[in-house]
Amino acid sequence: MADRKFIVGGNWKMNGSRESIDGIIQFLKQGPLNESTEVVVGPPFVYLSYVKENLPDKVSIAAQNCYYASKGAFTGEISAEMAVDIGCEWVILGHSERRNVFGETDEIIGKKVAHALTSGLKVIACIGELLSEREEGRTFDVLSRQIKAIADNISDWSKVVIAYEPVWAIGTGKTATPQQAQQVHLQLRNWLKEHISDSVAASCRIMYGGSVNAGNCKDLAVQPDVDGFLVGGASLKPDFVQIVNARM
Ligand code: PEP
Repeated sequence: MADRKFIVGGNWKMNGSRESIDGIIQFLKQGPLNESTEVVVGPPFVYLSYVKENLPDKVSIAAQNCYYASKGAFTGEISAEMAVDIGCEWVILGHSERRNVFGETDEIIGKKVAHALTSGLKVIACIGELLSEREEGRTFDVLSRQIKAIADNISDWSKVVIAYEPVWAIGTGKTATPQQAQQVHLQLRNWLKEHISDSVAASCRIMYGGSVNAGNCKDLAVQPDVDGFLVGGASLKPDFVQIVNARM
């Protein structure tokens, strides 16, 4: 297994209340969380400060999005600088819901990646194919296009994690098999080798996301090119602790 620190992120999406978040904080505090796994949670913006103040320091906080300008007349948007200001270390960019529900293009995502990195955030950059694209045999064409748009905007690869999230597996209960995930992760690593460098290919972590749960996480975690998980639904439940501890 390569020397890449396992990383597990919880994307809470637009879920949570003060009460339910207190429950999540409680199970995260109770853990125990494997010390050799990096843990990140992404609450909705309005709860970021509250979660930051109440979680143990070893759990980092991610914004679920941010805009590519520092400030100004962009009603409803949040800047990377604001996220840094309240203690965020990470931002999730390019999530399939941003792409497919809110119409974010590769170009917009690229701009966001560039701006977030120069503002001091680390980036969880998401890519993934639709079911129709997989069925048409276009999975890797789509992923190459998406990863290129991101890679062209990366100033420091040590601050970036790629999350491979097949859209057909997100929130559907239909997980990629460990073999499907490993195959794509290896293709992505080879893409990094060919287009960026051997050292980035060896060091860049590639998370898998898409209906990861306490039951399937261990089989996925033993795949040599799966370096962690981005978890949606299950990150709201105590099962998240088992997912954090999937690779022991
Ligand atoms: C996600 O939103 O990034 C995700 C992977 O969701 P879920 O785990 O619910 O499929």
